[in-house]
Amino acid sequence: MDQIRIKDLQVFANHGVFPEETVLGQKFLVSADLFADTRKAGRLDDLSCSIHYGEVAKQIDSFLREHTYQLLEAAAEALARELLLTRPLLFGITLEIKKPWAPVGLGMDTVSVKIHRSWHTAYVALGSNLGAKEQYLNLGVEHLKSHPDIRVNKISSYYVTQPYGVVDQDEFLNGCMEIQTLLTPEELLDVLQEGEQKAGRKRVRRWGPRTLDLDLLFYDKEILDTPRLLVPHPEIEKRDFVLEPMNEIAPWLRHPIHHKTMRELWEAWQKQAGENMTGRQNGV
Ligand code: ADP
Ligand code: MG
Repeated sequence: MDQIRIKDLQVFANHGVFPEETVLGQKFLVSADLFADTRKAGRLDDLSCSIHYGEVAKQIDSFLREHTYQLLEAAAEALARELLLTRPLLFGITLEIKKPWAPVGLGMDTVSVKIHRSWHTAYVALGSNLGAKEQYLNLGVEHLKSHPDIRVNKISSYYVTQPYGVVDQDEFLNGCMEIQTLLTPEELLDVLQEGEQKAGRKRVRRWGPRTLDLDLLFYDKEILDTPRLLVPHPEIEKRDFVLEPMNEIAPWLRHPIHHKTMRELWEAWQKQAGENMTGRQNGV
C-alpha cells in the first residue's frame, strides 16, 4: 500500500521513567509511515482525497506534548491509536519514536521503539436460542458498536435456524456482522465474551441453549490456532446459520483455508442438503 512518510519530526516532551525526564523534558524524534491509498489524490491532484501530513505532524507534536508516558512503548501505542481513530483515510501506521538524549550514561546515537498498527477486518457470528433472542442479538451488536476500537460496517438479517449438535432445544436466531477493529484477535475475543456476559450467558453445556453466542469467524486472512482461539472458526462450511448471513454481507469473501467464497460454500451446503433430502425421500 502507498505510504506518506514523516521522518524525524522533533518534539520536546516529558516522557520517561526518571523524574528529570518528566520534569525537565527532552527531545524526541518521531517518524511515521502513514499507509493509505493515495491513488485518487494522485490522479486528481486534490489534497482532500489524501492525508494532510502537515496536520498529522501538528497532531503528533501536540499529542506527545499534552500527554506524559513512562515508556516509549506506551507513547507510541497511544499515538498510533489516536491517529488511526481520527484520520479516516489512514489504514495503518508504522511509528518510531527515538530518544536521542536517553539518560543511560553511555555513548549511543538514539534508543527508539518502532511499532506497526492498523485496522483489521473481522467477521463475527451472533446467535441466541434462549429468551428474547432478537434483543440479545441487538445487545451483541450494540456492545461492539459502543467499543471505541471497533467500527461496525455491516449487519446481516437475522435468520431463524435449527439447533446444531444438540438438537433437543429451541430454534436459534442467527446473524453475522462485519467490523473494522484495532484490537488483536485475543482482545477481540475478550470483548465478545464480555458481550456474552452482559447478556447473562451461563456456559452450561457445549452447543446447549444460550442467551448470546458471539464467535469470531474471520480476522483478515489470518489462520490462528491458540488454546483460546481457532480462526477461521472451525466448520463454517458445515453451518447454514453462518453461511447464509455471511453470503448476504460478504458473498465474495474467500475462506483462507478452503479457498472458496462464502457464496460457493453456501451453494455447496444447499446442494448437499438438497441431495440428503432426496436421498431420504428415496429411502437411501
Ligand atoms: P461454541 O461457540 O462452540 O458454542 P462457546 O461459545 O462456549 O462454544 O466457546 C467455547 C470456547 O471456544 C471459548 O472459550 C473460546 O476460547 C473458544 N474459541 C475458539 N475459537 C473461537 C472463535 N473463533 N470464536 C469464539 N470462541 C472461540
Ligand atoms: Mg461461542
